[in-house]
Amino acid sequence: MEEHEEHGGHDEHGHGEHGGPKPCVFCAITSKKIHSKIVHEDDYTVAFLDINPRSTGMTIVAPKKHYATFNEDTIASERTFSFAQTVGMMIRRALNPKAIDFAIIPSQEVPHFHIRIYPVSEGETPLMEGQPKHVGEEELEELAGRIRAERPVEEIKEHEHKQAEQPNVSEEDMDFIKRELGIA
Ligand SMILES: [Zn+2]
Repeated sequence: MEEHEEHGGHDEHGHGEHGGPKPCVFCAITSKKIHSKIVHEDDYTVAFLDINPRSTGMTIVAPKKHYATFNEDTIASERTFSFAQTVGMMIRRALNPKAIDFAIIPSQEVPHFHIRIYPVSEGETPLMEGQPKHVGEEELEELAGRIRAERPVEEIKEHEHKQAEQPNVSEEDMDFIKRELGIA
């Protein structure tokens, strides 16, 4: 069953007309009309902590421009993806999680494109059936402060260059791969 969505006529300055489409929560957050725990920001994008996280330090990355899906504005999406990668690196250094999951799950409730970043700590399975956790204001502020304190760096590019120089797979590696795939 399709919810009737009156999505038309959303003007890009975010004017909420009376009786018009439901005001967008993420527009209110990215324009700072409502307070959130922002961990990183540039001219186009904002990263803020989810207040009902499915893992410790769950962060939402949203473009300041309102649009619903990744293919509606590919330039804005490219910036958002790149920004999410930077924030992921900051989270990795700040919280040192076991892993970091990224997810794009369009939301009926908030039709504003966003990328979810889930740091995965021991015992957490945010993309399985993990329930949202209640996290107190103080704990959220403490987490946000730790991530904010990290400066974005160009660590990823250097790593990629190193790998590109030696893309060889040894005979030993191939034997292992074939065994793993059952094609030995
Ligand atoms: Zn919006």
